[in-house]
Amino acid sequence: MSGRLRVGRLTAVFARALVLALAGCTASTGPRPNVLIVVIDTLRADRVSCYGYERPTTPHIDALCARGVRFENASSTSSWTVPAHASLFTGLFPILHGATQEHVRLTGSASTLAEILGAHGYATFAASDNPLVGPRTGLDRGFDTFVETWRDNEERDPDPYLHPNLGAVTRFLAGLEPDRPFFVFANYIEPHGPYAPPEPHRSQFLSPDTDPALVRSTLRRNAAGYYLDPGSISAREFAVLNDLYDGEVARVDALVGALVDSLERSGHADDTLLVITSDHGENIGDHGHFRHVFSLYRTTVRIPLILILPDGRRAGEVRSEPVGLVDLFATVLRQCGIEPPTGAISGRDILGDPGEHPIFAEYYYPLQVLDLFSPDALEAKREIFEPYLHRLRSVEAGDWRFVWSSSGRHALFDLARDPEELRNLAGTPDSAEIEHRLRALLDGFVERAGGEPPLPAELQSNSGRPAAFDDLDSESARRLRELGYIR
Ligand SMILES: [Zn+2]
Repeated sequence: MSGRLRVGRLTAVFARALVLALAGCTASTGPRPNVLIVVIDTLRADRVSCYGYERPTTPHIDALCARGVRFENASSTSSWTVPAHASLFTGLFPILHGATQEHVRLTGSASTLAEILGAHGYATFAASDNPLVGPRTGLDRGFDTFVETWRDNEERDPDPYLHPNLGAVTRFLAGLEPDRPFFVFANYIEPHGPYAPPEPHRSQFLSPDTDPALVRSTLRRNAAGYYLDPGSISAREFAVLNDLYDGEVARVDALVGALVDSLERSGHADDTLLVITSDHGENIGDHGHFRHVFSLYRTTVRIPLILILPDGRRAGEVRSEPVGLVDLFATVLRQCGIEPPTGAISGRDILGDPGEHPIFAEYYYPLQVLDLFSPDALEAKREIFEPYLHRLRSVEAGDWRFVWSSSGRHALFDLARDPEELRNLAGTPDSAEIEHRLRALLDGFVERAGGEPPLPAELQSNSGRPAAFDDLDSESARRLRELGYIR
């Protein structure tokens, strides 16, 4: 028994050394803070009060802002959950980690934050309320324990203290080995559609005279119906959807407040690096879109990013340079005294390396959305879907943003004059020089990554469409249907 135990320990030690060697990391020295990363799925930066929103949606997050460093111009690497989380965990853009709309799984050899922190002695734990963040997509890699809280329907109640993420994380903190640092990741899905917050948040931002029948009909709206029949959601319904979305933001704000209370009660708050962010934003009628599909507008890639450092260091600091979700990997490792792998990652330490850098985002061929529609419906509505059957890649530098499309329908926005991206200047003579310059930045980005990745074989040969989601267990299928991913 003891022999087996020793072999087991040696295997674990060897595995950790191997992860460190493969990742090219050096051993940590100095203090090792705990890390708690909270991803609020589908949270637009411009709906958070401390990011300038006029509605008081986020009192708890606002209070955290005052205690930490707020990055007011942060972006995700994509407008979708899987590529964004894979970038958060690997420090790589989608073109390098390969978990995209075309290949819905992290399968590459890149080391993850959980693997590296685990190899440095951290206890690693995740609670995910999104079925697309977990074992199904390979995003559980490296965590000692990964709890799919979305499978837990018992601990759900309007009372935030009964949310399954809170229960899971609180139990983990209570069972910690003394003096062992931890890395906890939690995904909250509340702002993701359908927007149906419980009271008191459901009514919080609805006008009191809103017709209850209108609210009921609006709650039945989904992306599939909208794209099959554009115009089917009225301006009044989009107004209600926006009010309900804000209610979901207020609801998740209370949940995050409860989680931070639990961290404080555990006694670990002062030696924990707390990160509050999101994986992507949302279109709620913006740009003729609904939900976070088919596009890379800033409504879908701008995210909040707040870092609360141990012992209240740098409290109240606001940073305006453009930064990305992809930067968290290097930033968190440095905070833990671990030198990030050199040359192998896309991100940088944004707490230690200020400066202007272009911001990139990517959207791959939308296989994950097309699963929503029957082949007959896609064929019958070909003229609607055809413009969306493309890859997109965006770059933002200074006041300009360029969105390349594999279909050739590019877009260029002058953010100083047009922050809402309403006037496409691509192809206009006055903007030719800036368009050329931004396109060269994107070309360099692709070249450094080894070139444009090939399309899935089925799409290249026109022999059909590979399924984005296959082998679903019944619970996963039910939840993905509720979230609007499959028929
Ligand atoms: Zn998401």
